Amino acid sequence: MTTTTAIDQALAHAHQRFADSNPVSRRQFDAQARYMPGANSRSVLYYAPFPLTIARGEGAVLWDADGHRYADFIAEYTAGVYGHSAPEIREAVLEAMQGGINLTGHNLLEGRLARLICERFPQVEQLRFTNSGTEANLMALTAALHFTGRRKIVVFSGGYHGGVLGFGTKPLPTTVPFDFLVLPYNDAQTAREQIEKHGPEIAAVLAEPMQGASGCIPGRPDFLQALRESATQVGALLVFDEVMTSRLAPHGLANALGIRSDLTTLGKYIGGGMSFGAFGGRADVMAQFDPRTGALSHSGTFNNNVMTMAAGYAGLTKLFPPEAAGALSARGEAMRARLDALCAQAGVALQFTGLGSLMNAHFVKGEVLRSEDLAGVDGRLRQLLFFHLLEQGIYASPRGFVVLSLPVADADIDRFVAAIGSFIGAHRALLPGTD
Ligand code: PLP
Repeated sequence: MTTTTAIDQALAHAHQRFADSNPVSRRQFDAQARYMPGANSRSVLYYAPFPLTIARGEGAVLWDADGHRYADFIAEYTAGVYGHSAPEIREAVLEAMQGGINLTGHNLLEGRLARLICERFPQVEQLRFTNSGTEANLMALTAALHFTGRRKIVVFSGGYHGGVLGFGTKPLPTTVPFDFLVLPYNDAQTAREQIEKHGPEIAAVLAEPMQGASGCIPGRPDFLQALRESATQVGALLVFDEVMTSRLAPHGLANALGIRSDLTTLGKYIGGGMSFGAFGGRADVMAQFDPRTGALSHSGTFNNNVMTMAAGYAGLTKLFPPEAAGALSARGEAMRARLDALCAQAGVALQFTGLGSLMNAHFVKGEVLRSEDLAGVDGRLRQLLFFHLLEQGIYASPRGFVVLSLPVADADIDRFVAAIGSFIGAHRALLPGTD
């Protein structure tokens, strides 16, 4: 039997076992598909043969609709850093709700969260809230277009900045029709040359300091620094999308690298698990949105909703102050080192890229610098790994994304490492080798 047939067979068996043990999730999926295409409202959550319905969560534990229990190693794609039941978050939300929902006005909670965020991320001199990271990026780009009076936006292949801002080597079909120039990630020389070439047209250079959705590919410091220098040289604004990476160091990843962006976008965990986004940065750029004097309006019914404003403040002050961000990153680094050592020792081409509490499994050898380096990976192996982890009671992402949240216990991490060991043991013959 060829390796490829053996992988198909292993996957078919995994699908069968999964379907057999999840009848309630299957029924839920089939019923839901009547009203939502593919039963789905968020594409990343779909996988074949059908996705699990998660019924309940507590701390870093999830239960699916059929009653199976999982250690949660995806944590709402990084928004769930506090886990599922932190009393501090619950109490903050309840207290806010007791004061009334939807108050149609400036409220008592938004200013203190704005101040906290600006003090934590010093490049953010002023900010505005949105409902999602997607909106935050749309608004940051709009701010840059108007501030510079230019039209072109430099982005990077594999970049993901939201549901309408995704990129392969070209913008995805669902991406807003701005004038994008897509350049290879982590290629400082090409970035310098192209930014210089198109200089007078470029409004913004938008990058993730570590690409998240593409598979936790850290930006090389020389590349990110080149973006800073080139943007300054041509009068474009550097926008760092720190929706995922702001958790990776006490004051965000860009700050740890010593690179100051003009605008920064934030999202995910900062809203304490409620819908959240924010864009901010240089006060002269943000002044465009000052309703007293600025030319731009920015609306959003729920931008300052009390639940997010309360949960965000409670989370950042009580559970995830700057020191906690540093400590969680250190736990993640230690876990990733164990995983990589295990794979190297086993001689299989499996590695975990990433930084701190965010990492991604890749079935490839050699350094991963950009999403193109992953083009040859057999996606079926990622699926096999996903189903293997589920069978070991571990919920991660089908794309190999692994996320630590605060309540993840050391024993959970040990279990995860052991599960990678048993995966390699069970499927060694199907995995590519290191030589
Ligand atoms: N930017 C990055 C780097 C992200 O990872 C995401 C979401 O995964 C977004 C923006 C979009 O945020 P949201 O899903 O809140 O719209």
